[in-house]
Amino acid sequence: ASTMHRSHPWDRIYPDDVDWHAPIAARPVPALLDDSAARYADRPFLDFLGKRWTYAAVAREVDQVAAGLQRIGVGKGDRVGLFLPNTPYFVIAYYAVLKAGGTVVNFNPLYADREIRHQIADSGVTLMVTLDLKLLYDKLAPMLGTTTLKRLVIGRMADILPFPKNWLFPIAKRAEVASIPQDERHVRWSALRSGAGHPAPVAIDPATDVAVLQYTGGTTGVPKGAMLTHANLTANTEQAALWFPGARPGQERMLGVLPFFHVFAMTAVMNFAVRLGAEIVLLPRFDLTQVMETIDAKKPTLFPAVPTIYTAINHRTDLAKYDLSSIRYCISGGAPLPVEVREAFIRLTGCTLVEGYGLTESAPIATCNPAKGANKAGSIGLPLPGTVVEIVSLEDRNSVLPTGEKGEVCIRGPQVMKGYWNRPQETAEVLEGGRLHTGDVGIMDEDGYVAIVDRIKDMILCSGFNVYPRNVEEAIYLHPAVDECVVAGLPDDYRGQTVKAYIKLADGQSLTKEDLTAFLKDKLSPIEMPKQVEFRDQLPKTMIGKLSRKALLDEEEARRQQE
Ligand code: AMP
Repeated sequence: ASTMHRSHPWDRIYPDDVDWHAPIAARPVPALLDDSAARYADRPFLDFLGKRWTYAAVAREVDQVAAGLQRIGVGKGDRVGLFLPNTPYFVIAYYAVLKAGGTVVNFNPLYADREIRHQIADSGVTLMVTLDLKLLYDKLAPMLGTTTLKRLVIGRMADILPFPKNWLFPIAKRAEVASIPQDERHVRWSALRSGAGHPAPVAIDPATDVAVLQYTGGTTGVPKGAMLTHANLTANTEQAALWFPGARPGQERMLGVLPFFHVFAMTAVMNFAVRLGAEIVLLPRFDLTQVMETIDAKKPTLFPAVPTIYTAINHRTDLAKYDLSSIRYCISGGAPLPVEVREAFIRLTGCTLVEGYGLTESAPIATCNPAKGANKAGSIGLPLPGTVVEIVSLEDRNSVLPTGEKGEVCIRGPQVMKGYWNRPQETAEVLEGGRLHTGDVGIMDEDGYVAIVDRIKDMILCSGFNVYPRNVEEAIYLHPAVDECVVAGLPDDYRGQTVKAYIKLADGQSLTKEDLTAFLKDKLSPIEMPKQVEFRDQLPKTMIGKLSRKALLDEEEARRQQE
């Protein structure tokens, strides 16, 4: 690996800024916060809808809550669930669980009953942290006693925000406060805080101790817990910091709109901001108008987001109302960033917007376009420092292919997970040969830049030919009337699979299947041409804002079952 580093194009791009060959430090995650609390004690850390916390204040509360968690029995390796939207409670609970020696298990608070039960059973959490809001508490209460879950820690929303308004969720009544029983199964956050305030030190081996169980469907079906060690998370944070040498320690302000329970925001927003001593302007959920108003009013300098958010901003018709010029750096991840979306956003703000790539299993960032110098259009950039990307044969999953050839993107580096929790077989498969097999098909060029062609499992096999839905989507996106689109393969008795396009048109636009086909004629081969086109007012998205091919395929499956 070291010879690969030495010949790496990174040396040409950042000749002076960074020692590319330096080893990446492995540390306990809470050390990031302790460092910044020492260095930036009185600087603002969290801004939640106008209320602010300094680094010192957060670090003090983290210590109190960590000590309280230890008092109620949380120790080394104990798994503690977080069932929290973006609020200061999330940030404090996250570092407190880790400081107490525990392992954080992130839950998506919008999960349905069945998904929550699966994740509780699989991770074996006995304690979860949530808030006294009906929307959250009422989902967890039925789990007490009927699953491994024995106790809840309850944070009071009114303690940090004395005006329970309509801000948290779209429907006002859903922000209603729940009535919480007074019994030993319900532990008040305030009670955790009331003790001595110094947790007993816990010896952490960053390389092996699991900081977070992060659930993901991965490349196959059922959600599994990716075991991310302290070293995985601090390494990826450090790699991100090396990648953005222009970010000024102690001076940046980051917009925290992506949900922290998702791996991208956990690292690229929360841990990265802490590493930088940046302030985080926290938003509890994604609301485009609130994002625009917040950028205008709070003047964040860093704005990590997903492609659908940048697209939505580009398409606002009232852009002139907002000043977006404070934004200096943006990192887009989680899904492909269309070239024209990137260019339009840069024109709008004058910022540097780079596309990164990664997955839950790599904590998550594996590659990124450089924050200065050449960004290659449509490329996910270069491997981060300390990371090796290899393109491996789709047939034998083992031989490394030369540049220019299509194969599975594989990753080695300090950010690659330890394995899946309690799933030795899936772990052995995904880490076969000491490489993380991403399930993505990609190509590396001579300069070391990687381009993602598609995910292996999304590949459409049509009359014996491989069709890559992304390729078809990119062609469809060239049509000016198209706002969003997803292409998927549906079962077809004759061809094996057939290509279907789901399209959401831009406001006020119209388009027919015939017009679209005529437009695509010189852009796609006959095999790739969508045989079915469905126009919709809205396309389903995942919680982080990725367009969801899976939701569409599930609908089609349900429809077929009914026929
Ligand atoms: P998850 O583990 O749920 O975050 O999903 C990771 C997957 O998202 C990867 O395996 C890719 O298929 C996809 N992905 C993430 N970033 C990008 C990107 N920049 N371009 C294309 N696909 C991406």
